[in-house]
Amino acid sequence: MTITRGELEALKAAMQPLEPDTDDRRRLGGEVLDHALDYLEALPELPSNNSWDEVFAQKLDPEFTEGGRGSAELLSYFGQCVNRPGFTTTSPRFMAYIPGGGLFYSALGDFLAAVSNKYSGFASASPGAVRIENACCAWMAKVIGYPETSAGTLTSGGSMANLTAVVAAREARDPDGGGAVYMTRFVHHCVDKALHIAGRGRAPRRLIDTDDRCRMDVAALVTAIERDVANGVRPWLVIASAGTIDTGSVDPIDDIADVCAKHGIWFHVDGAYGGLFALCDEGRAKLSGIDRADSVALDPHKTLFLPYGTGAALVRDGNQLLHAFTASAEYITPLGESEVGPSPADLSPELTRHFRGMRLWLPLQMGGIAAFRAAQQEKLGLARYFHARLSELAGFDAGPPPDLSVVAFRYQPENGDADAPSERLLQHLQQEGRVMLSGTRIDGRYYIRCAILSFRTHVEHVDELIEALQRGVKALHG
Ligand SMILES: *Cc1c(COP(=O)(O)O)cnc(C)c1O
Repeated sequence: MTITRGELEALKAAMQPLEPDTDDRRRLGGEVLDHALDYLEALPELPSNNSWDEVFAQKLDPEFTEGGRGSAELLSYFGQCVNRPGFTTTSPRFMAYIPGGGLFYSALGDFLAAVSNKYSGFASASPGAVRIENACCAWMAKVIGYPETSAGTLTSGGSMANLTAVVAAREARDPDGGGAVYMTRFVHHCVDKALHIAGRGRAPRRLIDTDDRCRMDVAALVTAIERDVANGVRPWLVIASAGTIDTGSVDPIDDIADVCAKHGIWFHVDGAYGGLFALCDEGRAKLSGIDRADSVALDPHKTLFLPYGTGAALVRDGNQLLHAFTASAEYITPLGESEVGPSPADLSPELTRHFRGMRLWLPLQMGGIAAFRAAQQEKLGLARYFHARLSELAGFDAGPPPDLSVVAFRYQPENGDADAPSERLLQHLQQEGRVMLSGTRIDGRYYIRCAILSFRTHVEHVDELIEALQRGVKALHG
């Protein structure tokens, strides 16, 4: 089938909406920026949780049209139907689950990365982009205390970081299967997924007991390992949590590292929530020994306050990561061979990917490390401040002081059970939508969780949380 020059010219004209000219770009960019600035200006007073029904009842039409729509209509749609309903995770009063961030510098980094669309998979395609990604990984490795022979890769989040590490552990220590895995019942459920995807879902799994602070009991770990060895089962992988979701508890990493070293077991630390607290002094003391882990999963979109979409897997012996993910032996070049470091495509399952280094590199460069360190120290301090204030409130069981920045507590009005009242109080708070918390069950008992991790959360917001709890108690007792 031939095509005429005239037909090609007509198609060229028809696709022009995909390439706005300079004036249009300036106008559109300005409109989007104004929209974002208005949002950020309103943010301090926005509810932290919104019901959907009310918003979607307006029946705004999200369908795609042949001719396209104007920017004003679309921005209005985005504001009402995307920004409003659900959780306002950018709110300083969002203290549910593990809060994310949303640094403005990252949004600018994403914009720059998308406009130049550099190919960050291979050093040969964009040495600059690869150098930036490697610089980010090297910086995090230094924060953790890893040697220069470590390697890392930026992932889409903590789940993919844990999967990446489990695959590296499998290739290094369990290529033929059969090895046993050790962890506590508080390990994040993504570890389950990772083992399954890595083909180790049926590996012998030992749930190790915990102490009264939900941390792995090292004596119980040793017993389980020795029992396996005596029974001819090979210990393969120990997974410790540097900050569990439920209570923010940090397993005794240094002691576990001793046990793993003695038995030749791969030691992985899931530090998706807590690992990067190693940047501040107090956090580093709590994570002592993390540099001895064979691999670490991190989540800059939590503890470095980035918008969602950035995790990191670090492997102490970088060659193990390279070995796990290079597609063919032909590609394997020593890690340090390229001037800008290894190519991301050789260290992860991905080939073509977003140039995600920019969203981490730009805020670190512009904000400076001291600001990140202060923000982390502030979060740890705010959790302790909240715990102390809560301990003074009648009817609340604040539990032990937090390891990191999660406080799990119960509401127990004088007589009887705390489960139902705690659940009702949480529901009341969520419906009120001012301060957003979440709940969990630990060994069958219901807990309210306050997780302080947004860079926007400060002491006045924790004061507001105390007020919201007092308001909630009053409302429940009519
Ligand atoms: C958040 C989290 C994960 C999962 O990470 P995603 O970024 O949500 O994929 C895993 N482990 C822990 C401890 C976490 O806090």
